[in-house]
Amino acid sequence: MPNLIITNIRPHGGAETSITIKSGRIAAIGGPAEPGLKVFDGHGLLAIPGLVEAHAHLDKTLYGMPWYVNKVGPALLDKIDNERASKRTLGIDAHRQSARQVALTVGHGTTHIRTHVDVDTECGVTSIEGVMATKAAHADHVDMQIVAFPQSGLLRRPGTLELMDTAMRLGADAVGGIDPCSMDRDPKGHLDAVFGLAQRHGKGVDIHLHEPGEMGAFSMDLIIERAKALGMRGQSVVISHAFCLGMPDVAAVDRLLADLAAAEIAILTLGTPSRPVPPLLRARAAGVVVGTGSDGIRDTWGPYGDADILERAKILGMRNNLRHDTEVEQALDVCTHGGAKMMGISDYGIAIGKPADLVLLPGSCLTEAVVSRPVDRITFKRGRITARNGAAAFQVP
Ligand SMILES: [Zn+2]
Repeated sequence: MPNLIITNIRPHGGAETSITIKSGRIAAIGGPAEPGLKVFDGHGLLAIPGLVEAHAHLDKTLYGMPWYVNKVGPALLDKIDNERASKRTLGIDAHRQSARQVALTVGHGTTHIRTHVDVDTECGVTSIEGVMATKAAHADHVDMQIVAFPQSGLLRRPGTLELMDTAMRLGADAVGGIDPCSMDRDPKGHLDAVFGLAQRHGKGVDIHLHEPGEMGAFSMDLIIERAKALGMRGQSVVISHAFCLGMPDVAAVDRLLADLAAAEIAILTLGTPSRPVPPLLRARAAGVVVGTGSDGIRDTWGPYGDADILERAKILGMRNNLRHDTEVEQALDVCTHGGAKMMGISDYGIAIGKPADLVLLPGSCLTEAVVSRPVDRITFKRGRITARNGAAAFQVP
């Protein structure tokens, strides 16, 4: 494991200092260089903790494949059914594609990824196996969590629940779920199955909740009720998207935020431009842990995305009308500490004893770095450089 000192850097935009790394961990902040220690001169760059991609779909990106001309229908089920068929017709190999997206993501400064991976009656657990192989191959480059995700529904396609159980036995880190009312049309059955799997395997849950307004609030209440009843605290339950928190009824949203905070349930928001989204600052002020991510990029759902979590800070800022430097810094914090906490990672941050997972980047302050999104970043994972100038320092197929 590397031993070195990174000099002339400004952690979180503060005063210039140095960071000494021993065996891949931060051994000292400030102080003189020990004789004989390898020196890496940061030339006044900002230093932030490694970016956290807390919601990806690595198994189904088309990145690096021929351009996909999207003519998919407008409904959620159109996209889901089209995707299931496309995996076969386009030859979307989960192992190859997830490795490509890992390189793209790490290239921008990410050191931690949570990915949802499809489990259904057509692909079975092959996508899980493919992404697990990627996780093992890139263990030195990124820490990865895999959520077994019933994208096509859990109860409406018999056999899926058994496959989800297999995915958990293979080593998935959390149980996924999706729209308990509108997907399976059986919210109690869906959530009992998701939480049942989580209990059986001793894992957390991370549920896609796109349901809007009152329907979403109803599903959210059922999730909170189960998390409390089962004693699943400490962000072991995550609600991804949580569009219902973007509804205009301020009192109802504040009540939900208070309940989420009390139950220690985290939310994940992308700041999706086309949908109502959770109010970022109000959620954090209420004590809710918030993470963010890219969601699907360059897939059969849509052409967008390049897996740059620093860009996500900018999107969150624009979508939430964040203008003050202190507000934009909160958006960046969602991309680092927020995501880490959402993923249950306490071994994180620029502090003595923590892994040396760092991004060095130019900018006079953090807000300038967010809005200018510099390409020339240098990323360290446990003290080793994993990316420079927007490109990973390792090869993928
Ligand atoms: Zn998603």
